[in-house]
Amino acid sequence: MPKGVEHLLCTADRLFDGTGTAALAHPVLRISGEHVEAIGTGQFPPDSADAERFEFPGCTILPGLIDTHVHLVFSALHSNAAIVEQVTSETDEQLLQRALANARAALRAGVTTVRDCGGRRRVTQEVRDRIHRGEAEGPDVLSCGSPITTRTGHCHWLGLIADTPQEVRAAAERMLAEGADFLKVIATGGNMTPSSNPMKAQYDADTLTMIADLGRRARRHTAAHVLSQAGLPGAIAARVRTIEHCDWRVEENHYAFNPDLARRLIDQEQYVGLTMNGMTRRAILGRAVIDDSGPVRRLDPRFACERQMIEFGVPFTLHSDAGVRWTPIDRFALGLRAAVFELCLSPAEAIVAATRTAAEALGLEDRGVLLPARRADLLVVEGNPLRDPACLENVRAVMKAGRWVSTP
Ligand SMILES: [Zn+2]
Repeated sequence: MPKGVEHLLCTADRLFDGTGTAALAHPVLRISGEHVEAIGTGQFPPDSADAERFEFPGCTILPGLIDTHVHLVFSALHSNAAIVEQVTSETDEQLLQRALANARAALRAGVTTVRDCGGRRRVTQEVRDRIHRGEAEGPDVLSCGSPITTRTGHCHWLGLIADTPQEVRAAAERMLAEGADFLKVIATGGNMTPSSNPMKAQYDADTLTMIADLGRRARRHTAAHVLSQAGLPGAIAARVRTIEHCDWRVEENHYAFNPDLARRLIDQEQYVGLTMNGMTRRAILGRAVIDDSGPVRRLDPRFACERQMIEFGVPFTLHSDAGVRWTPIDRFALGLRAAVFELCLSPAEAIVAATRTAAEALGLEDRGVLLPARRADLLVVEGNPLRDPACLENVRAVMKAGRWVSTP
């Protein structure tokens, strides 16, 4: 072994490595530096005197969670209007402080990687870089900077407005020049922006393709916000990597799964990101916590379509859209629990969507599963989350790249 590399050994009742459906009983996990070195079972190996030992009786070791869609600068207040007002009136320093606090909270809840799908100016890149330099505590952050949108379009208040193809090209090039890890485009209107129309496409297929091609040339993927089927054909033609929300609505309150579109998503290896925000937690927290009955009523047909899509075989991740109303960033596990209930998933399927599949969708080959040579990103929870997903909220310890977030 190279001198100076730290070795750790962890034992627990079980370990779920993010592949398959079953856990390994009585695992011994050996970590070397930032990476998993070996996974065995039984007792600590006799030749492990050099390693520091951590025992987690009654606990399960999982890969660290990956939330593929968050907004670090948003505050998860109870009204979207209040969130928008705050984000547009605050100084960069105020936004930075909130984003840093959100990042820290996410990591402590077991989320070791987040993809930020929309911030203001360069705040999320700054958070990413501070964490990377070790100056702040948080998950690895992938930042798009701001999302590309039209003048009155969804998220125009984040400030990256582009109407014409020339403006769109300039906006995408600017984000890449400002260090974006991926490009985000708003392909339809959205719920937080009354001047936008979620039922209409904001850009044609050629414009979306231009954005995705600029990303590909810079080895960056593109994410498209799609809140109705009107946005899907363009996002598919552009071969964007991830379709955020992927709502199958064809009319305001009418959803229709389309197998032809789904087939193309599979053939092109596109991933859909299903949104388990605060609104979707109705079954667990009770409808009483949600005072806006309109959106809640339409969740049943939404989930039915998403279930069809999952059974059809479209690769999917589960994300929180953290920061939007009722969606604090440290409750991602609650969203996964809601997904088990609403999308009829096994707990293992929900965990895989937020670990292995999430890593694949983001092109992060070093994480998402616990296997030798992968990054040692761990979530240790009390109990057995493969039986009861509520256990994901009982965080016992979190490790990112071989380092405990707080010493267990
Ligand atoms: Zn979002």
